[in-house]
Amino acid sequence: LLELAKNKNSRFLYASSSEIYGDPEISPQKEDYLGNVSSVGPRSVYDEGKRFGEAIVMAYFRKYKLDTRIIRIFNTYGPGMRKDDGRVVSNFIVQALNNSSITVYGEGSQTRSFCYVSDMIEGIKKAMFAPDLSGLIVNLGNPEKKTILEFAKLIKEMTESSSEIINADLPVDDPKEREPDISKAKKLLDWEPGVSLEEGLKKTIEYFKNL
Ligand code: UDP
Repeated sequence: LLELAKNKNSRFLYASSSEIYGDPEISPQKEDYLGNVSSVGPRSVYDEGKRFGEAIVMAYFRKYKLDTRIIRIFNTYGPGMRKDDGRVVSNFIVQALNNSSITVYGEGSQTRSFCYVSDMIEGIKKAMFAPDLSGLIVNLGNPEKKTILEFAKLIKEMTESSSEIINADLPVDDPKEREPDISKAKKLLDWEPGVSLEEGLKKTIEYFKNL
């Protein structure tokens, strides 16, 4: 795709991931943080794949002056998710709506911050279409963070569920903290999320109810 973009002199947007920071030692994560990633762990195929993607995009930016933009997408959710994709938002809502146990991995003290899909799309559009940002590397996500246990309680409350919250094994290399620093996106893209977690979850719960 980079060769094609080079031949057609196209702009190139690469959808990277907060996973490139691995299990970060600093929080929130700024774009210049280099990350803490295992090259051999169970998440490494995805993490290192995304990291190599960034590396090759930057090589085309440097060598061929291709107009590239890298966005690092943090946890995103909303209507349209698969109910069985195994991620926390879909798992917890589906479990709560079925009144089955809500599976918190580990103690639930790990943090995540969730960005509603329409906010993310706005950010992606800005990163793609704003002029004069060749070589851009920018975090996109919602900085409002919660522990996973708090998140489970919130979903249980919002769905008025009788589910019990149980603990299950924490996956290997599960990041303990994840929180985007979005000051760069604010400054360069004039972007920040506008949909609160409660508002976004309401719409997402409705979607799963009707699925
Ligand atoms: N998680 C959980 N229960 C689940 C699914 C996920 O406690 O049923 C946790 C998971 O261990 C991680 C967080 O929720 O700490 C987010 O997981 P997800 O797979 O959604 O995304 P990640 O941020 O790990 O890429």
